[in-house]
Amino acid sequence: PTAMREIFLDTPRVKWADIGGQDELKKALRKAIEWPLKYRSTMEDRRLRPKKGLLLYGPPGCSKTLVAKAVATEAKLNFIAVKGAELLSMYVGESERAVREVFQKARGAAPSIIFFDEIDAIGASRSKSQQGGLHVLTTLLNELDGIEALRGVFVLAATNQPQILDAALLRPGRLESSLYVGLPDYSTRSEIIAIETRQMCIGPDFDAAYLATATDGYSGAEVVELCQEAGYAAFEEELESEQVQPQLIAMKHFKGALEKITKQVT
Ligand code: ATP
Repeated sequence: PTAMREIFLDTPRVKWADIGGQDELKKALRKAIEWPLKYRSTMEDRRLRPKKGLLLYGPPGCSKTLVAKAVATEAKLNFIAVKGAELLSMYVGESERAVREVFQKARGAAPSIIFFDEIDAIGASRSKSQQGGLHVLTTLLNELDGIEALRGVFVLAATNQPQILDAALLRPGRLESSLYVGLPDYSTRSEIIAIETRQMCIGPDFDAAYLATATDGYSGAEVVELCQEAGYAAFEEELESEQVQPQLIAMKHFKGALEKITKQVT
């Protein structure tokens, strides 16, 4: 199998409005990606150098992938998503070739974003990575050095374990800043609940504030899962009672879901 099979151009449909909260993160990404595209010559006049790449780090399920997709959608950029581990699970030499192909494809599709999810799989500190991984990292560093900022290829990388990354990845001219993407706060959870339940058949006793409080410590993904679980419980009731009208999702369904879905991140 050729490495190219792993690389595909994606057209994400995620919009900023689909993502609850995270205002600072959204702003930081627009600054790094939209500004240089939109205000290119003015920024040159001001001697502001565009960045080549950013690292997003933080616990799983907290919107790293989502914001990467949204910035691509909103700035009309092609999106190339690659998982670090997928690049590693290939034959010797294939991984390096795959990394080069990712960048080649991104240059061909510019303006574009390369999203490296689980970058730690290939970007772990060279002292810690297994043999093989080392060459992939070297290839990645070379490719990062090779892209010229402003030529329309932007790199976003994501990890849950920033502490194991090789420091060389985070040097100027590579992934130039790191943005922490943390657990959603109260208002972000409220927004996620509002977005997720917007089109659901919600009952009259719905209490968004209660749910936003009760989900303290949940990841964004867990908040979404909670709403889905409540929806499933209501639908189950509807099927079992053979009623014709949709069973509205009531607080008892949400409370049942709260017992089932517990926070994983500590
Ligand atoms: P991982 O480290 O596991 O890759 P991630 O940070 O990239 O996690 P995402 O894939 O962006 O997580 O989020 C997972 C899911 O959680 C999303 O598809 C979405 O349903 C939900 N989600 C997380 N955060 C938010 C948010 N702020 N607004 C709306 N949905 C969210």
